[in-house]
Amino acid sequence: MIIGRRFFLAGSAAVLALPRAAAFAAAERLTLSGKLEQGSLVVGKTAPGTKIMLDGAAILLNPTGNFAFGLTYDQSKPAVLVATYADGTNETRNVSPVARQYEIQRINGLPERMVTLPPDVLERRKREIAMIADARKHNTDASWYTDALEWPIPGIVSEPYGGQRILNGEPRAPHLAIDIAAPAGTQIHAPASGTVSLAGPDFYLEGGLTIIDHGGGVSTCYLHQSKQLVAVGDKVERGQVIGLVGMTGRATGPHLHWGLNWFQLALDPSRSTRTPAPAKA
Ligand SMILES: [Zn+2]
Repeated sequence: MIIGRRFFLAGSAAVLALPRAAAFAAAERLTLSGKLEQGSLVVGKTAPGTKIMLDGAAILLNPTGNFAFGLTYDQSKPAVLVATYADGTNETRNVSPVARQYEIQRINGLPERMVTLPPDVLERRKREIAMIADARKHNTDASWYTDALEWPIPGIVSEPYGGQRILNGEPRAPHLAIDIAAPAGTQIHAPASGTVSLAGPDFYLEGGLTIIDHGGGVSTCYLHQSKQLVAVGDKVERGQVIGLVGMTGRATGPHLHWGLNWFQLALDPSRSTRTPAPAKA
């Protein structure tokens, strides 16, 4: 009886060990890092030469095997990732984003011209939206996004990501970025290295706007700056001062509106930072 039971235990342990070993081998071929929450950036790593499809569309894998993609702020279905390795085998990963709760953000006292755009601004706005969208189409082999981001300024997060916005009493699109309150003139540091893909001092809503391309479709943006210290095409290093906090464009006080994008998808930069909150000033 005793021998029989021992044998049974050893047998079941061996059976259990097999799927675990297989899962471990699979994890080594493809790793995904990030919070895997709604609105977060996912950073992937696999062997160079692998083909990666996300929900049926190919995504860029750089020569060192890095890639990135984003989960939308309200995504409820899993993102389906299919990797086809050099040996012809396939692997499918279903990435189910962790659901988040968002708050309601009421902002009053904005000039009416900043909430409902007057007809004389519409042409200008169309051009600006196209410029911003173009800057976010950059898709390069760089992978400066693989390390956790630094917070660009010290301060207090005054408006988190994802809040449903009610501007002067009117429901608007959610706030898909982070606002950090800080005194005007505070230096803004690049959270990761990159290349400046857009810089202009006078966007109607964004004011002084800079976009930095970190490779693989990942970019960050900086709004309402009083001064910009980099220009389109400049290479910036992690930590470099790129501009100063201001309240240009649609802002009720000095703050940095900080956004993280995967192409046109607006993600939550606070889910990709090295520390959960910025240092206090
Ligand atoms: Zn904002």
